[in-house]
Amino acid sequence: MQSSTQNFSSTNELLNRRSVLGPAYRLFYDQPLELVKGDGVWVEDARGRQFLDAYNNVPVVGHCNPAVVAALTQQAATLNTHTRYLHENIVRYAERLLDLFPSGLDTAMFTCTGSEANDLALRIAGEFTGQRGLIVTENAYHGVTAAVAEISPSLAETAPHVRVIPPPSQFAGPPDAVADRFAQAVDRAADDLEAKGIGIAALMLDSVFASDGLYVESSNALATAADRIHARGGLFVVDEVQGGFARTGSHWWSFQRDDCMPDMVSMGKPMGNGHPVAGLVLQRHLLEHFGNNYRYFNTFGGNTVSAAVGLAVLDELERINAPTHVHDMGLYVSNALDRLAQQYDCIGAVRGAGLYWCIDVHDPSSDSASDARIAESIVNGMCHAGVLIGTSGIHGNSLKIRPPLVFQTEHVDRLISTLEQQCKKLRA
Ligand code: PMP
Repeated sequence: MQSSTQNFSSTNELLNRRSVLGPAYRLFYDQPLELVKGDGVWVEDARGRQFLDAYNNVPVVGHCNPAVVAALTQQAATLNTHTRYLHENIVRYAERLLDLFPSGLDTAMFTCTGSEANDLALRIAGEFTGQRGLIVTENAYHGVTAAVAEISPSLAETAPHVRVIPPPSQFAGPPDAVADRFAQAVDRAADDLEAKGIGIAALMLDSVFASDGLYVESSNALATAADRIHARGGLFVVDEVQGGFARTGSHWWSFQRDDCMPDMVSMGKPMGNGHPVAGLVLQRHLLEHFGNNYRYFNTFGGNTVSAAVGLAVLDELERINAPTHVHDMGLYVSNALDRLAQQYDCIGAVRGAGLYWCIDVHDPSSDSASDARIAESIVNGMCHAGVLIGTSGIHGNSLKIRPPLVFQTEHVDRLISTLEQQCKKLRA
């Protein structure tokens, strides 16, 4: 990547001018980055420093992927309209997307954000079941609209029609026991909703339990929970905004690690490689009530350019054979992290699959509050050393590694050696 010509003073000036955005926004890192360029797994700041991006899952086929940019610019220069006109792109995109799902998931609807996709899923579930009650995990995040913010306990207090359950990771024991205890938690939450006369519309689960600190085991936890919610007349909605598009390797969707069949699957983030493309894939019969009672028109969702971008992203993911590539990279990362865990006390539990990893860090000589500080200091230290990762988990004591899927072994090596330097510093 060629160096940019912008200089450092612009970053400080921007920090001040940024107050126009108000107090709700947050920046990463102790020294916020002003990024000005991206190329594959690399980004560059206004000072011309290059960083290996091991954090961003949106540019899934690489920052500024040339094929995606070409599809975007070509379609933008030709026509951009919406779903009220016939166009080949949107139909072809829906067909291509649905080809990646088990056959019962046969209908696609398009939005601009993951939040909108989840919001739509809630409306459809409410209309289909005639009920409002929802079950989510205790630190779930499902987005920013009013309806999904109130089912996102990691963001705010949940609404009275919402029940929270522990994620499967909080149950000890062999996979079957974990799945069973998770299903019991679903039952208890459903009992409570019924006892309060609220009724059950859906169980919504993030397929990788990302904000709960990540859980990607094949324990059949999703399948068992799905059976329980179906037995109570509710729908099983899987949020693949984090776990989708081969993120955890081997499959296109993280729910496929279990033998389960969702009623609806929401997706977003990587879908447009940075262009706002998101959507909902669902079983057609669920739409009968909703489709008869409401028309669905999302002005920008599924527009002609977005569909062209989505198609180009699918082409690129298929070109690199993403499920296999990500699976192989995952094994390589796993071996490297296991070695670090054996050598350094500050590395605790390591969870993950494919190119999504969470590493619990801890300060062996101190209390759990300092674990989060250590995680923060590792993340900042790595940023200063030119590698971007983040923190995660309810207590902020986990490192989050979630790079573009075009990550290769040499990038993993750089990531691991930089993390090891931080571990050595802590030991010293
Ligand atoms: N669901 C999950 C699991 C997410 O991680 C996010 C975004 N972080 C969303 C939904 C919301 O997506 P968006 O920001 O595109 O609205």
